[in-house]
Amino acid sequence: MSVTRRILLVEDEKTIRSAVTAYLEKEGYWVTGAPDGAAALEAFEKTSFDLVVLDLMLPKVSGEDVCRAIRDTSDVPIIMLTAKGELEDRVAGLELGADDYLVKPFSPRELVARVRALLRRAHTTEEPQRDKLEYGDLVIDISSHKALLAGEELDLTASEFKLLTTLARYPGRVYSRMELVEKVLGYDFMGYERTIDSHVKNLRAKLQDDPKDPTYVFTVHGVGYRFEPPAAGGA
Ligand code: CA
Repeated sequence: MSVTRRILLVEDEKTIRSAVTAYLEKEGYWVTGAPDGAAALEAFEKTSFDLVVLDLMLPKVSGEDVCRAIRDTSDVPIIMLTAKGELEDRVAGLELGADDYLVKPFSPRELVARVRALLRRAHTTEEPQRDKLEYGDLVIDISSHKALLAGEELDLTASEFKLLTTLARYPGRVYSRMELVEKVLGYDFMGYERTIDSHVKNLRAKLQDDPKDPTYVFTVHGVGYRFEPPAAGGA
């Protein structure tokens, strides 16, 4: 049972977009195409992706700006596509926060190979070692599905536990309600954002977190939520 990896493909040239999409889909990836930078950021906010293929020269919002905006909130692997001469050298692309880059014209086969390599790297470095998250009084033991607050086990539902671990894995990262619906409840259609609000409400009650003065789960107005570790030096 392998998980389908989701790829956001940002490319304004329709022929390249279709060709690359076909190759990636043939490899079993789930591909969302975006024809410009604004569409890319909108898609990125709505859905969580495992990897982004990003053209540098784009209408509306440039590839550089898309890359920076993504990097503000996410460590998702990014492969940048550049035409010869657009970037001085490899370093410039990587300084923007991209993980890898390909110079056009490239072979879709090569892109697929890079995608596969980056995904493999991303999934071996992140997931296994973070089995236990500790933030002050809060300890989350992911493998045994337990969360403790000041040594007391919290009685969390499966969804609340999933919500807590999703947020706490990346402190400071803002999750939109849509993203949380998808990650926590496992479906991605509209209308379930309020469900996340009620899960957050219940989780906060169990964490003794006051929404007006939270210790752990913060509301990001108009967007969603983020987790912050409690300030060091308390109690
Ligand atoms: Ca372009």
